[in-house]
Amino acid sequence: MSTNPAIPGDKIAIIEEFETGKNTFDDGQSIRSLVVGTAEFDKANRIAKINESKRLVVPRPGNIIVGNVSALMNNMFAINVMYVEGRPTEAGLEVICQAKGAKKRIMVRVGDIATAKVISLLNGVIHAVINEPDLGVLFTKCNRCAGAVVPMGSNVKCVDCGYIEERKLSLKFGNSDFIKFTSN
Ligand SMILES: [Zn+2]
Repeated sequence: MSTNPAIPGDKIAIIEEFETGKNTFDDGQSIRSLVVGTAEFDKANRIAKINESKRLVVPRPGNIIVGNVSALMNNMFAINVMYVEGRPTEAGLEVICQAKGAKKRIMVRVGDIATAKVISLLNGVIHAVINEPDLGVLFTKCNRCAGAVVPMGSNVKCVDCGYIEERKLSLKFGNSDFIKFTSN
């Protein structure tokens, strides 16, 4: 998750070590980013700056993102963002989804394509949720044989081996619009 580019408000250095450079400000203690981009440190002149990523679409609270599940932890998971409000984004931003009170449920698996709603950007971490009918898994495969699956209530069933597993499915699961836009 440390591979995320800096987003506005991110702390990139402390003022004892660096001066503010391009696209940064100081809050009295830290140098923070004003834009989305990559931090660069000029150690000779003690200046921290951000090289702005022009082509990066940054999710904001309320935005719907689509991406692939990149990590699964005890009660949270990460989605590597591919689309923000339907617009492709190229830099490896991740959002974190909490799976509160759902420890025993399998919400997603790594590699699933899922859609989530961004709820906050805090200290460089983008938090999102999948607890609405439209949100959740859009595409997944059988966890046992990688075969195609069909939805069955709150589960998916493999058409090849019959394996059944839970998922938090989006109402848009299997939607043909979605298949068209991920095959690009
Ligand atoms: Zn299977």
